[in-house]
Amino acid sequence: MKQSEMLLPTLKENPADAEIKSHQLLVRAGFIRKVASGIYSFLPIGNRVLKKVEAIVREEMENAGAHEMNMTALQPSEFWKETGRWNTFGPELMRIHDRHHREFALGATHEEEVTALIRDEVKSYKQLPLSLYQIQTKFRDEQRPRFGLLRGREFLMKDAYTFHQSYESLDTSYEKMFNAYSNIFSRLGLNFRAVIADSGAMGGKDTHEFMVLSEVGEDTIAYSDSSQYAANIEMAPVVTQYEKSMEEPKEKEKVATPDCKTMADAANYLGHSLAAGLKSIMFKVDEKLVMVITRGDHEVNDVKLKNLYDASFIDLATEEETRTAMGAGFGSLGPISTPDHIEIVADYAVEALVNASCGANEDGFHYKNVTPGKDFEVTQYADLRFIEEGDPSPDGQGTIQFAKGIEVGHVFKLGKFYAEKMNATFLDENGKANTLIMGCYGVGISRTMASIVEQYHDDNGITWPKQVAPYQVHLLALNIKKEEQKELADRIYATLKQAGIEVLYDDRKERAGVKFADSDLIGIPLRVTVGKQAGDGYVECKERVSGEQSDVHEGNLLDQIT
Ligand code: ATP
Ligand code: MG
Ligand code: MG
Ligand code: MG
Repeated sequence: MKQSEMLLPTLKENPADAEIKSHQLLVRAGFIRKVASGIYSFLPIGNRVLKKVEAIVREEMENAGAHEMNMTALQPSEFWKETGRWNTFGPELMRIHDRHHREFALGATHEEEVTALIRDEVKSYKQLPLSLYQIQTKFRDEQRPRFGLLRGREFLMKDAYTFHQSYESLDTSYEKMFNAYSNIFSRLGLNFRAVIADSGAMGGKDTHEFMVLSEVGEDTIAYSDSSQYAANIEMAPVVTQYEKSMEEPKEKEKVATPDCKTMADAANYLGHSLAAGLKSIMFKVDEKLVMVITRGDHEVNDVKLKNLYDASFIDLATEEETRTAMGAGFGSLGPISTPDHIEIVADYAVEALVNASCGANEDGFHYKNVTPGKDFEVTQYADLRFIEEGDPSPDGQGTIQFAKGIEVGHVFKLGKFYAEKMNATFLDENGKANTLIMGCYGVGISRTMASIVEQYHDDNGITWPKQVAPYQVHLLALNIKKEEQKELADRIYATLKQAGIEVLYDDRKERAGVKFADSDLIGIPLRVTVGKQAGDGYVECKERVSGEQSDVHEGNLLDQIT
């Protein structure tokens, strides 16, 4: 491609709102442009990189036996109402309506839509297992869109969904997907780690996040320095003491978390402690009791529900803290009950709980004016704190270290959660209807592209690994007005193109200094410069990463490159 004919606007200065390298460099080097907060266009050169990341993901998905499809961005609200997520997804779900006032969601994810499809199309165990994926724009109205492509409100995701007759079959697909993800991020040249993303009720084997190690990551990974153990710290608190008490503890003793500083802290203990078998936990924030979670049988609207979680709020912190807390706490627990007794302190708490809980009852929620219930029973209590650097690893091997990570992928065993709610069944060998078992698997394509830049840059710009570089060769004609330079560069351009090499040709009427600076910024692996030695047929080859350079004769260039 000739640069003179291309939209490739480079900038000398960092954009004012760009705090991290990938954001700064992708904008400055002309890969992306901001349209609105968290919403970016990919310019031609950026689009090329995106397609290369996609291609690698696509290959690995096909290798894992998944079939590509393309679902819709506009999704009728009915799907989301069936699973309760029309309420529980909260304000992150972008909603619109058509001219007939029918409600739609802009696809934030596609569990509902794909389950509806499979419910209609798959009737028999003979059609299972099934593995589908798509690469598509997703919409999430993130509370804090930031860091350029890392946290967008419109972003590209690969999402895959598998459907099974049995949990064994789900395990097999999960493993295939897990391996595909490892291949994807290895092939992309990323320094990453697969971490346990949930140690909730199922024991921590059922969901993993793929984390690119990076200082700008929003997640903290706790990993062992001498084993494979690695977990998102949210999911890796330590139970320092665990006591069983058959006697009702005194009010003071019920407080389980002496060193919680925020609601988010408190909620982060939740999943772990319930998984540890605690029936009831009380959370204190800054000496104030804020939340009681109980697990047991509850009665809701005369219906007896077994073994469900129930929350009572005693007092609340700020709205944001509450949302974070509830999101973190219940997000890790999965389905929870319709809370039948909540002490309401503020409306936003209720909303937060609704948003966080996945288990809406069919009648929706009636929360106002319910009787504050304090009829829970504390049978056990624990003294908990977060895992810290230097702690022994939970697997008994080595010592815990911390690292920051960017979540680029997430694999998840969903089980029957969606299929049950949406009544998606199949007939088994005996003609009996069974609920489908599901898995889902996401890769943030655009986030991954930014993560690559986080790991591949230097002071002068991006240093793309070959497999995702927008072009393999950056050909520079230093002074295009000099006939011999133009002629040689034109000839080389034609030869490289002929040989199938992706080449970007800087044929602009710009100063040499500008061309060099832009070339470093854009970060193509090999630069071929046509300059003063053009008359003798010599060009200079320079590797972007090592800076290694050599003079090469036109006649040997192709050999040198390939
Ligand atoms: P996060 O914890 O960062 O908000 P998530 O857990 O909500 O991500 P998932 O629902 O697991 O995200 O979606 C699958 C993948 O989509 C994530 O692993 C991530 O790579 C990508 N992704 C999620 N949200 C965004 C976003 N706002 N911008 C870019 N990529 C995103
Ligand atoms: Mg999110
Ligand atoms: Mg996440
Ligand atoms: Mg996730």
